Amino acid sequence: MTPERYAKILRVLSRRQPTLTVLMDEVNKPHNLSAIVRTCDAVGVLQAHAVPPRGGRLADFEGHTFEATSGSAHKWVPVQRHENAVQAVRELQAQGFSVLATHLSQRSVDYREPDYTRPTCVLLGAEKWGVSDEAAEAADLNIVVPMFGMVQSLNVSVAAATILFEAQRQRLAAGLYDSPQLDQAALRAWAFEWAYP
Ligand code: SAM
Repeated sequence: MTPERYAKILRVLSRRQPTLTVLMDEVNKPHNLSAIVRTCDAVGVLQAHAVPPRGGRLADFEGHTFEATSGSAHKWVPVQRHENAVQAVRELQAQGFSVLATHLSQRSVDYREPDYTRPTCVLLGAEKWGVSDEAAEAADLNIVVPMFGMVQSLNVSVAAATILFEAQRQRLAAGLYDSPQLDQAALRAWAFEWAYP
């Protein structure tokens, strides 16, 4: 580990946002999962969450396709597994996160409305089924990227990027990237893990 490399690790960790995360609910295409994790790295998500797809290809979390398409981002954004989306939503809420479900419902609001400077988890759904009604119901808010085309939905990784960069925009404006959001002990612990995996 060169001093330059270690300095870069500290620089990146000093911008990590422990209060911003995603929960991927059965996102089953590895390239989508990888693209989302790569965006998470870009906006400073410290840790992501996922419920593996039904019929499970759990290996895809660490498997070849995931690694190939995430461009090594998976090394810098660990993905914590959960067995069930509703339970995961409740756990994250208990940790203080407001869970925003990307879901078209009566109560959906434009994705630019929420305050992303608060602890926020963006809940993303499976390509085929979207976010389940139960998970959307358990969430604090339902959000949507307005669509004016012939096609009803975006690719899940595109929706994730759109929303996460809005979160980044708000957090930049609020100065949340200007000083470390991790305390010194946590920052050192993460740095050690990244430097000596
Ligand atoms: N048939 C599914 C449905 O009815 O929800 C479509 C799922 S879409 C291909 C996959 C995921 O991408 C969604 O669950 C959501 O997380 C995200 N997504 C797609 N379009 C979106 C939009 N316009 N606003 C917010 N999220 C969107």
